[in-house]
Amino acid sequence: MPAQALATLNPETEEQDRRASVINELEEDESVDEVEHSTQRGAPNTGTTPANAAAQPDIGILPSGQTQPSAPDTPVAANVDLNDVVTAPESELLAMQLDTLPMPRPAQPLALLGSEVLPGTSARLAWSPGIQIPGLSQPTPVLAVNGIHAGPTLCLTGAVHGDELNGIEIVRRTIYDLNAEELSGRVIGVPIVNLPGFQQGSRYLPDRRDLNRHFPGSPDGSLADRIAHSLFENVIRHCDMLVDIHTGSLKRTNLPQLRADMNNPDVATFTQGFDRMAVVHSSGSPGMLRSAAVAAGIVAVTLEAGESHRIQEHQIEAGVNSLTSLMEKQGMTSRMFVWGDPEPVYYDSDWIRAQHGGILFSEVDLGAHVSEGEILGYVADPITNAQYPIRANSNGRVIGMAVDQVVMAGFAAYHIGTEAEIPAE
Ligand SMILES: [Zn+2]
Repeated sequence: MPAQALATLNPETEEQDRRASVINELEEDESVDEVEHSTQRGAPNTGTTPANAAAQPDIGILPSGQTQPSAPDTPVAANVDLNDVVTAPESELLAMQLDTLPMPRPAQPLALLGSEVLPGTSARLAWSPGIQIPGLSQPTPVLAVNGIHAGPTLCLTGAVHGDELNGIEIVRRTIYDLNAEELSGRVIGVPIVNLPGFQQGSRYLPDRRDLNRHFPGSPDGSLADRIAHSLFENVIRHCDMLVDIHTGSLKRTNLPQLRADMNNPDVATFTQGFDRMAVVHSSGSPGMLRSAAVAAGIVAVTLEAGESHRIQEHQIEAGVNSLTSLMEKQGMTSRMFVWGDPEPVYYDSDWIRAQHGGILFSEVDLGAHVSEGEILGYVADPITNAQYPIRANSNGRVIGMAVDQVVMAGFAAYHIGTEAEIPAE
C-alpha cells in the first residue's frame, strides 16, 4: 500500500504547521519523496514512458555500431589499461592522450566527448559542463570501455549528490574489473557527477540546488539546468541503459535496492537482471536523472545503497555484484560461475514517520523482517523522559531507516517494504 502520509497534513494548529514545514524540507530527499509521491503500481503511466523516444534522433536504444558517424578528424582516445594506476591528470586531460594513438581499427568506435574509443579499448575521458571560469576549469573524469564485440551501452553514474560515496566506489570497481577485449557492448562510467559537491562534502551544487531535480536540463537555465543539460546531451544520450547510484540522505540508510518505475514494461524487464536485489516501485519525480532518461527512451533505474558520507563495504559489494549480474544477463560479459537463477524481490513500500520530536533509538536493524504492530524504535524526550514507540503498520521488511539521531515530529524514520507480486513479462 503506497504512502498516504502526506494526506494527514491538514494543519490546524501551530504544531501541525511546524510539522508541515519539516516535511516540506524533506521534499528534497528522493529517498522519501520519490516513494511517497509515486504513482501507484499498475496505475496508468503519465509522462515517463519512452513513447516520444522514437521521434528523437540519435538517442535511445541503438544497436551497438549504429552510433552516429563521427567527424573524420575526431581524435582517437588512447587505449589505456584501466588497472594501471596513473598519476593525476593535468587539466589538459584530452590533449595529453593524443600522443599515444593506438593502431586504428575500423569497426564501431565509440564517439564520446570529442574522442573516439576504439573497439577493444578503454579510455579516461573528461566531461566539462562549461560553467566554470575557463582558466580554472576542472573536467569531470569519465571512464569508457568499448568492448571488442557489439552490444548495448550501459551507463553508470555516481555522486549526482556529492556526499553519496558508495556509488563512486561501485562504479570504480565495476569498470576497472572489465576487460575490453572480452566485453560485448560499452560501459560508460561517471564516478563523480557532482564534482564540486563531492569536494565540499555536499549533496548540492554550489548554488545549493539539487542536481537531481534538473534533468534533462536546459542550455540557458540555472546553473543546475546547464550542468544537467550538458551531462544529458554529452553522455547520457549515448546510453541504452542507465543505473544512477545513490544512497539515503539526512542520516538515513537504505538496504541495497532499485527504485524503478514498474509501470514501464521495459524498465520492469530490466530489473530482472539485477540478481536478488530488492526492487521498490517508484514512478520517479520530474527532474530526476532516472525519469529524464526513461522519457528519452533509455531504460533507467536508481540503485540505492547505504547512507551518505560513508564508504560501506557490504553495500558496495552488493552493488558491484548486482551490476556484474546485470552485465551477464544483458549478454555483455560471461563468467564461468553460475549463481543459479536468483530473482529480485519486489516491494510496495510505505514510510513511517516519527510523531514526536526527540531522540530516536531503533530496536530493529536494516533488513529486519517485522510484523504489523511490532515496535521498530522509540523516540525519547530527553527532558520529560517520555518515550514514544514507533510501530510497524504492516508485515514487511525494513528496507530503509533513519540511523539513531535527534528527530523532529514528521521525520520519516522507517521504510517498510511489503512483498509484491513479481511482475508479469
Ligand atoms: Zn542521492
